[in-house]
Amino acid sequence: MFKYDVIVVGAGHAGCEAAMACSRLGAKTLLASLNLDNIALMPCNPAIGGPAKSCLVREIDALGGIMGIATDATYMQLKMLNSSKGPAVRALRAQSDKKEYMRFVRHLLESEENLSLKQCTMSELIVKDNQVKGLKDEFGLEYYAPVVILTTGTSLEARIWIGLQYLEFGRLGEASAKGLSPSLKKLGFNIGRLKTGTPARVDARTINFDAMVVQPGDENPSFFSFLPDRPIRKQYPCYLTRTTEKTHEVIKNNLDKSPMYSGLIHGIGPRYCPSIEDKVIRFAHNPSHHIFIEPEGKDTYEMYVQGFSTSLPADVQIQMLRSLPGLENVHIMKPAYAVEYDYMPAVQLSHSLMTKKVKGLFCAGQINGTSGYEEAAAQGLLAGINAIKYLQDKEMITLPRESSYLGTLVDDLVTKDIDEPYRMLTSRSEYRLLLRQDNADERLTKIGFDSGLISQERYNNYLAKQKTIDQEIQRFLQEKISPSEKVNNILSKYNQNIDRGLKLAELLKRPNITYEVIKELDENTQKLGLTRDIYEQVEVKIKYEGYIKRQIEQVNMSDKLEKIKIPENIDYSKIEHISTETRDKLAKIRPVTLGQASRIGGVKPADISVLMIMIESHKIKSK
Ligand SMILES: Cc1cc2nc3c(=O)[nH]c(=O)nc-3n(C[C@H](O)[C@H](O)[C@H](O)COP(=O)(O)OP(=O)(O)OC[C@H]3O[C@@H](n4cnc5c(N)ncnc54)[C@H](O)[C@@H]3O)c2cc1C
Repeated sequence: MFKYDVIVVGAGHAGCEAAMACSRLGAKTLLASLNLDNIALMPCNPAIGGPAKSCLVREIDALGGIMGIATDATYMQLKMLNSSKGPAVRALRAQSDKKEYMRFVRHLLESEENLSLKQCTMSELIVKDNQVKGLKDEFGLEYYAPVVILTTGTSLEARIWIGLQYLEFGRLGEASAKGLSPSLKKLGFNIGRLKTGTPARVDARTINFDAMVVQPGDENPSFFSFLPDRPIRKQYPCYLTRTTEKTHEVIKNNLDKSPMYSGLIHGIGPRYCPSIEDKVIRFAHNPSHHIFIEPEGKDTYEMYVQGFSTSLPADVQIQMLRSLPGLENVHIMKPAYAVEYDYMPAVQLSHSLMTKKVKGLFCAGQINGTSGYEEAAAQGLLAGINAIKYLQDKEMITLPRESSYLGTLVDDLVTKDIDEPYRMLTSRSEYRLLLRQDNADERLTKIGFDSGLISQERYNNYLAKQKTIDQEIQRFLQEKISPSEKVNNILSKYNQNIDRGLKLAELLKRPNITYEVIKELDENTQKLGLTRDIYEQVEVKIKYEGYIKRQIEQVNMSDKLEKIKIPENIDYSKIEHISTETRDKLAKIRPVTLGQASRIGGVKPADISVLMIMIESHKIKSK
């Protein structure tokens, strides 16, 4: 019999963050996975970040997680997307070296003295009196711990499809995990089925890159981690090609060989990441779709064909790929496939990510119905932090929606009935001007520090940074710039001009004027020599002051509903004047606050008023 404080099942992105957090916080931790050679594998595109997801990576970093550090250490390309747009939608994206990323994370894990790795298939949960006790593996070996974190990704009872054929795999080359999902069902959990897909990997030596548009990285890149001293590495380009009339013709002619279209796959796929056959059928008016060819690593010819995921048969895949400009003679190294897997709808969890039914049992990542490395890693970290709080009998962390994309993600998962893979998008947050990738440290470092994952030194550095930002804002509000020929000559390059002394902050608020322009004009700003991470904050806080204030007011307003707690023992069946459907939903999700109740799909403002009266009368009765 093996005994631990915490057992994490699955060494994907959720599992690695969870296991690192638990072991760093002092728990004797076991990280069990189907194949230890696949730790931190990116089974789809080896790319981290992009819209909304870059915020999640920065939030993970601010809380003391590892994804940002690992990405900065292993990138092949860094690019700021939407750099000419507002700060709420700017998004850092990295193309990672897949194998290097995996080696880096494995090394971090193996450097943890409290952490043991084990290759096995956990196939049954051991639960007594609604408290998790441990797990059994496929050989019947028993592992005991008061906390188990399930991060099983796309593996549970999984099947991958290539055309009308299927294999019992969770990811190409890795067996499907049998047993755990039936064991969850036996415990009374509701289990659903989802699907996702990945494109083919092709050989760079058989591609004519001259027929494509080169997509270089940024010359002066930003990084994910807020820690200093990130390595400057050589960057590698990606390439852009497009589908042609021929591609669309091949797809349409072979739809009957698609397991999706012939009804063999029952799981629902991600609407925001459709297969190429979905794109061609759903957006039939679009004569062509962008396809990116991206490197998988520095020491391999394997290239990823982004935007071309499909479940059509291997022979059709060849025809489709060879219809793309530059890929006329392409050789497929790995075929595209779709994967269908079991997941556990997350309305069965509380905001801490612990299940409501079984104490000590946490779930994070794709098992909760999400899709994406960043979504998984962020949940894994939160589950890890809360697992330790649970062990220590301390209050677990609930991140409010206005604090982070992670808070928004978890609130959506535990509140809404999600029946398709959930991907983080900027549009999911009503507070996106507050939840920017540039200020994740301001929002979350204190929580990371309080939970023990951020060191005192890092916290002090963070406080010093905030102080410098505040001082610089104050200086901008006080110091003026006077009109002169030199000043107006410079300003004319940005279509601006001044005819009276202006506070630096006033000038910064004008269109086209950035902190860097002010630096050109003002000697004091030059002398200070602030770094980009600091002056970007000064710029955003001054330029967008009005919008930010409005959003804070919005937070304060919704805070009122968020503060009204719904009694745990409320009997929804006794509430009159609401529909049966609403009553059932409330009883199933059991929202913690009136705010959460208001976000449940189908719950109307009138229902909230009824609930409010019910809470008041409940209070009077209890008194
Ligand atoms: C084919 C495919 C296509 C994808 N396409 C996209 C995409 O287009 N966009 C996107 O954002 N994301 C995509 N993803 C999803 C992305 O890979 C996942 O969201 C992310 O990796 C999930 O992380 P995770 O930690 O939850 O699970 P995973 O990274 O899947 O890791 C799960 C881990 O659990 C282990 N495991 C499972 N069951 C057991 C068990 N019983 N016992 C022991 N170990 C177990 C596995 O070995 C694995 O290490 C795709 C995934 C796949 C497989």
